[in-house]
Amino acid sequence: MQITRIDCIPFNLPMKNPVRYAGGTLTVSEHVLVQVHTDEGLIGSAEAPSRPFFYGESQASMLAAVRQWFAPALVGQDPMGFERAWAAFDQVEHNDTIKGALDIAMHDIAGQAMGVPCHRLLGGWDTSARVTYICGYGAPQAMADEALAVRERYGIDSFKLKVGVDARQDVAMLHTLRQALPDVTLYVDGNSGLNASDALRVLDAGYEIGMAWAEEPVHRDDRPGRALVQKHTRVPIMGDESCRNPAEVAREVADGFVQLVGIKTARTGFRISRNIVAQCAALRIRNVIASQGDSTLGILAALHFTVAHRATASQPAELGFHLNTVADLLEDDALPPIVGGRMRASEAPGLGVRLDAAKLSRYRVD
Ligand SMILES: [Mg+2]
Repeated sequence: MQITRIDCIPFNLPMKNPVRYAGGTLTVSEHVLVQVHTDEGLIGSAEAPSRPFFYGESQASMLAAVRQWFAPALVGQDPMGFERAWAAFDQVEHNDTIKGALDIAMHDIAGQAMGVPCHRLLGGWDTSARVTYICGYGAPQAMADEALAVRERYGIDSFKLKVGVDARQDVAMLHTLRQALPDVTLYVDGNSGLNASDALRVLDAGYEIGMAWAEEPVHRDDRPGRALVQKHTRVPIMGDESCRNPAEVAREVADGFVQLVGIKTARTGFRISRNIVAQCAALRIRNVIASQGDSTLGILAALHFTVAHRATASQPAELGFHLNTVADLLEDDALPPIVGGRMRASEAPGLGVRLDAAKLSRYRVD
């Protein structure tokens, strides 16, 4: 089997409510649909989310990267030749999410060709995952009301709370949330927005309310600040923006700054995400599947990866971002529903992607 063509289709999805975080507000998802075609008629699909503030990519730059570098390297090659594909990807710096999407689309083809779902192809640890819902930054009571409504409707019992704009409000929010939801998993994401002393105030409050961990409170380049937080907090720290690839994971772990590492399949595809899982397993570092603002297409891929591996299936996974978008590209039942706070992967071959042609023509922007 050979790759014959790669199609890249930019599409924009409006958000139900803009998601505010330290550093910005997400009002629309600007993603690219990647479709890898083969001479046997199989098509692998994945999405690449453009996040210029994290990865420096835009929809236009992703299309250009595929046209100029990655399609010439992949066309004519075996779609299961992941090692060769990554050797070609490594020739070009950055461009993380488009590389990730190409890798995932190739795995989709591999699963379809073998007649097995990707979660079995990758590891087959479990078939369902506990889902985390992400509450955007807001007034404490509004965040509590949002979390309560989500818990009521979907049975979700794990919440990530955006912090890092105002530490005093963050402290109040943590107490409000814990009072409203005494028995759920709570963690925060500072998106690198806090200085060390503000971070410690939020983490102290987090320790009091039994917060599970805190994600990236202090910027990766603030090494003294990260060291100070590490020295004085009893809350485990999770790396996200500081752990974008295996080399960065190695640095943060070696410096003792992270006790958990977030994995985004949109950022490291399946192959490099698996490398990070192995790297962390060797060091007894926990992994959490995190969201890159994925639409249902990206969540489907993350779901397969989550349940496939013991490390990622052991922690709640951020597979609920679609609850905050009003649109997607898949047929309505293509992403499994969240029932009792969990999502169960299907047994369809590959990723089980079923694109809705009408939705695609409505949201594509090319
Ligand atoms: Mg994060």
